[in-house]
Amino acid sequence: MSFYLPDTVNCNGEEFRVLLSEEVLRKRIAELGKQIDEDYKDKKPILIGVLNGAFIFLADLMRCISIPCEVDFYKLSSYGDEKVSSGNVEQRKDIDANIEGRHIILVEDIVDTGLSINYIMNIVEKKNPKSVKVVSLLCKPESIKYHVKVDYIGFEIPPKFVLGYGLDYAQEGRNLAQLYVLKEND
Ligand code: 5GP
Repeated sequence: MSFYLPDTVNCNGEEFRVLLSEEVLRKRIAELGKQIDEDYKDKKPILIGVLNGAFIFLADLMRCISIPCEVDFYKLSSYGDEKVSSGNVEQRKDIDANIEGRHIILVEDIVDTGLSINYIMNIVEKKNPKSVKVVSLLCKPESIKYHVKVDYIGFEIPPKFVLGYGLDYAQEGRNLAQLYVLKEND
């Protein structure tokens, strides 16, 4: 298998450099999968991915989990084509699963202000699941404005715009196999 692994990339006229390599991502995601295996033994959780950004992380994380589990997706919009959050969030797609009485793991690509995960958490809790936890590949602790409890964090990163591994800039760059950060902010 070959991956798209350059050290620097240009996306929509902006320069980015590698922040987290494919190997670093792979190792940490394996650890998260192992932790979830231990915490959810005999529970059959439903992993609920938040589209679009979380689709690659969710696919890799799920393959590092060996207990029985299911998958579903919400779709939200918040960034549009910009590099900063609009501060508005809209639901574009609902889940199909009946989650009443089920153990839910919300899967996010990144927690920035916390608005999106806070919004989803409110929707999910109204559906009476047995438990809800959050796993996010990335978290920008310095940017958080809304109260959220992120139970599993892959990496804490500085408050800079990142790209790749599912995260886009104006819809491009999701196919990059590593995580990149905007050079301008260095
Ligand atoms: P929040 O609602 O926590 O402010 O932001 C969450 C969403 O904003 C993420 O799911 C992601 O779609 C987007 N986002 C936040 N920070 C970044 C970033 O640095 N790069 C990209 N590409 N998207 C981001």
